[in-house]
Amino acid sequence: MGSTASILGLGAMGSAIATRLRETGYTTTVWNRTPAKTEPHAEAGSKAAATISEAISAADTVLVVLLDHDSVREQLDPHAAELEGKTVVNLVTTTPNQARETAAWAAEHGIGYVDGAIMAVPSMIGDEHARLLYSGDEHAYNTVLPLLETLGTAEYTGKDPGLASLKDMALLAAMDLMLLGYVQAIAMMRTAGTPAADTAAEVEAWLAAMLPHGRHIAAIADQGTYDTGGQSVDFDRAGIRSLITASREQGVSAQLLEPHQKLLEELAATGHGDSDWIRIIERLTIH
Ligand code: NDP
Repeated sequence: MGSTASILGLGAMGSAIATRLRETGYTTTVWNRTPAKTEPHAEAGSKAAATISEAISAADTVLVVLLDHDSVREQLDPHAAELEGKTVVNLVTTTPNQARETAAWAAEHGIGYVDGAIMAVPSMIGDEHARLLYSGDEHAYNTVLPLLETLGTAEYTGKDPGLASLKDMALLAAMDLMLLGYVQAIAMMRTAGTPAADTAAEVEAWLAAMLPHGRHIAAIADQGTYDTGGQSVDFDRAGIRSLITASREQGVSAQLLEPHQKLLEELAATGHGDSDWIRIIERLTIH
C-alpha cells in the first residue's frame, strides 16, 4: 500500500490535498462527514469511503484535515485500534499542547503520528511555495516524506510534536500584528481622504524598508542584555504617546496601539526606561 493515502475531511484544504495526491498518482480514499463532498472526488478517481473505518482500512497513511482539535479527537478516538501500525498525519490547525495530546494518544495506541501545520492556502497545495511544517515521530515522518513532499515544501521542525504548531502560531501572530498595522494606517489616512489602496502601497514600501530591522531585534533578544545604547524604552514611550494622540486627534481609536504603550510604561515603572525597547520581550514571557 506504498502509494495509497486516505484523506479524512474534504473542506477547502482537504479537498485540495486529496486532489493533489490523486493527480500525482496516489490511490486515494476520501471520507467526509457530509458525504456529498466525496462525490466530485469519486468522479475524479478517488474511492469514496462511507465510514471512517473503511477509509482507515484502505491505506497505511491517513491524512486528517478536519476543522479543529475537537473534531479530530471526536472522529479518531473510536478508531484507535484500527489505526494501530498506520501513520496518521494530522494537518489540522491546533495549539502545541493539543498536538502533544494527540501524539500521546497515538503513541499509546501504537500509531505513527506526525503533526503538521500548513503555511499556505488551498490553491497553493502542490506548489513549492506552500510550506508545510511537521513535528513528532521522526521515523513516521521519514516514512511518509515522499507523500508530504507532493503537497509543498516539507520542513521537519523536531521530535516535540508541538513544535510545528508552535511555529505556525508564532508566524501567524507575527502576521496578525503586522496586518493590523495596515488597518491602523488606513483608518488614520482615511480621515484625510486618502484611499486605502494608496495607504496600503505606502505601508508596503515602508515595511519593506524596515523588515531587515527584525534581524537586529533578534540579535539583541538572543544576547539578552538590553544596555545597547539603541532606541530606549523612554524614547519609545514618547513615540507611542504621539501615535496614540495623533490617532485620537483624527477621531481614530488607539486601542490597537494601547497594549504596546502599556508594556513600555510597565518597563519604565520597573526602572528600565534607559533599556533598549526590545526588553519588552521579557515582559511578554510569563514566568
Ligand atoms: P473547512 O471549513 O473548509 O472544512 C472543514 C472540514 O472539517 C469539513 O470537511 C467538515 O466536514 C469537517 N468537520 C468539521 N467539524 C467536524 C466534525 N466535528 N466531525 C467531522 N468533520 C468535521 O476548513 P479547511 O478545509 O479550510 O481547513 C481544514 C484545516 O486546515 C483547519 O484546521 C484549518 O485551520 C487548516 N488550514 C486551512 C487553511 C485554509 O486556507 N483553508 C490554511 C492553513 C491551514 P463537513 O463538510 O461535514 O462540514
